[in-house]
Amino acid sequence: MKRGNLIVLSGPSGVGKGTVLRRLLKDYKDIEYSISATTRPGRKGEIHGKDYFFLSEEEFFQMVDNNQFIEWAKVHNNYYGTPREYVEKTLQDGRDIILEIDIQGARKVRETYPEAVYVFLLPPSFSELEKRLNKRGTEDEKTKELRLKNAREELKELVNYDYQIINEDLEEAVEQLKAIIVAERCRVKK
Ligand code: 5GP
Repeated sequence: MKRGNLIVLSGPSGVGKGTVLRRLLKDYKDIEYSISATTRPGRKGEIHGKDYFFLSEEEFFQMVDNNQFIEWAKVHNNYYGTPREYVEKTLQDGRDIILEIDIQGARKVRETYPEAVYVFLLPPSFSELEKRLNKRGTEDEKTKELRLKNAREELKELVNYDYQIINEDLEEAVEQLKAIIVAERCRVKK
């Protein structure tokens, strides 16, 4: 059986990765989503085992020591990691799986899975990104500043990705992501 494709989605904080992904996964059933582990405290409404596996630092580093992550990274002062088992099992079952991870994580995944498909979600402009972070209102001033500073660095990483999607219109961004996933499934060779 053909192995599934690993799709990696990155983009600066506030660009709308979560929104685009939720919209995609809602009625597109041909792809699985990899739930990350994090030491970040849960935001209001976030559910353990659905949005993230919320772990203590001790639990997180236990998983690191046991080699249970494909990649892990410190992002905006918290740790995030992709659990290995579910990703590997899904790919072996011939199903596609999407990871929503930061650029450092994507760099590490590239070492192990060079054949994966790397997609970068861009804001229409930097000021729009700032506006979205303000509107989301989930971060305090200091965290927001840090996320914006990191975003400028993250945008430089675009050259290492296979595809870019500009998240101007949500429906259009979702359609483009879906088109990429479908096209990659039809690809003869990489
Ligand atoms: P947030 O705290 O807003 O949910 O996520 C912050 C950043 O961490 C985002 O850029 C997101 O893509 C990234 N992230 C989420 N899960 C993972 C993961 O498993 N590994 C890595 N490297 N980054 C992640």
